[in-house]
Amino acid sequence: MQYYSTNKQSPSVNFQEAALAGQAPDKGLYFPQSVPQLSKEFLQQLKQKPKSEIAFEVIKNYVSNTIPEDVLFKICEETVYFDFPLVKVTDDIYTLELFHGPTLSFKDVGARFMSRCLSHFSNCINKKIVVLVATSGDTGSAVAHGFLNRPGVEVVILYPSGKVSRVQELQLTTLGSNVKALEIQGDFDDCQRMVKQAFTDDKLNNNIFLTSANSINIARWLPQQFYYFFAVQQWQHSEAPVIAVPSGNFGNICSGMLGKAAGLDIQHFIAACNSNDVVTRYLNDGLYSPLPTVATISNAMDVGQPSNFVRLQELYKQDFKALKNVLSSYKVSDASTEETVLATWKNHGYLADPHTAVGIKAMQIYQQAHPGKKGIVMSTAHPVKFAELMQKITGIEIEKTEQIKELEQLNKQSVLMDTNYESLKQYLKKM
Ligand SMILES: *Cc1c(COP(=O)(O)O)cnc(C)c1O
Repeated sequence: MQYYSTNKQSPSVNFQEAALAGQAPDKGLYFPQSVPQLSKEFLQQLKQKPKSEIAFEVIKNYVSNTIPEDVLFKICEETVYFDFPLVKVTDDIYTLELFHGPTLSFKDVGARFMSRCLSHFSNCINKKIVVLVATSGDTGSAVAHGFLNRPGVEVVILYPSGKVSRVQELQLTTLGSNVKALEIQGDFDDCQRMVKQAFTDDKLNNNIFLTSANSINIARWLPQQFYYFFAVQQWQHSEAPVIAVPSGNFGNICSGMLGKAAGLDIQHFIAACNSNDVVTRYLNDGLYSPLPTVATISNAMDVGQPSNFVRLQELYKQDFKALKNVLSSYKVSDASTEETVLATWKNHGYLADPHTAVGIKAMQIYQQAHPGKKGIVMSTAHPVKFAELMQKITGIEIEKTEQIKELEQLNKQSVLMDTNYESLKQYLKKM
């Protein structure tokens, strides 16, 4: 399989090159040259197959020969080792809970898969790989955990001092081993600026292979489609499901749409957005007009300019009508999100975190316009991560998970650093 850049100014590359590079040199996103079709037989037998086998079958054509099959199979097993239960919320709405991984975030799957691929490739290129990440919270912990103890890979995480939650900080700073946390005495923008400067520092890049674990990396993007196969695998109704996805950068939903293009039986997609609704507006009037990012209570979806929007366009060959046929989108305000959290708890006894609640509300709006449709909402975060807010809305105190209890026993280990790029450079040179 070859990957081309959506900007069409860089040469096509294979999976290994695309995964190591992250973004294409022309600043485009890599996109597969074709969508490999899955056999009817495989799709009919989904229900009987173990998760690891499904993952392997789905991803192997994308990885093609850049990773030996036995290694790839093991990577798949280690990526999807936890549960993805389909839970009934109402007669017509189910959730697929994606948050049972080590950091309680749906980003665990992408991070685990990518880290294992890069670790394999570090052997092939015979160079130590340093993954450099700036984080405002969640992405950093999934990435850090995914890369923990991967041979040949060091992870350096920059996070703004005092600006991440306590649980998030513990998740970033207690891993040790090959994961180093730099506590930057500034804000998230400082962290991001320092990281960006390191990537454009040619001298530094001569000595170490620097890469980002950015969400646009195909090794993080492609494995997210596994969720949609696990959803269909557990679906018991004769009519194919409609699937709603709480969306920010649109990586998750776009990977699901890739699964559909490969043959998976999904009726329709709903992009559930908070007040950052550029795609909702685009589907209404055909005009793409990004606005500055707005802060909301579903903060992992606070993205003003979704980076994977170009991939959506590419998948449907810039055909607006074709895209509109498979994708609807609704905007859900914070007030409506809170109402949905409360109503879902009071009426159905289900605790949905604010991101999942945006998905549930969008599904309900769709179902009002399309009576009789049954659907699945991708549940992207564990409510315990938003315990305070959940308590404020529902009055319920959420019990800590084992992962969080264990974390609280550990000691923070971080290196305090000022916001000068030179400080970061000196640190990286000594690694
Ligand atoms: C990252 C994230 C999202 C958005 O996913 P995208 O792939 O960026 O659209 C939604 N919910 C949660 C909890 C997330 O962490």
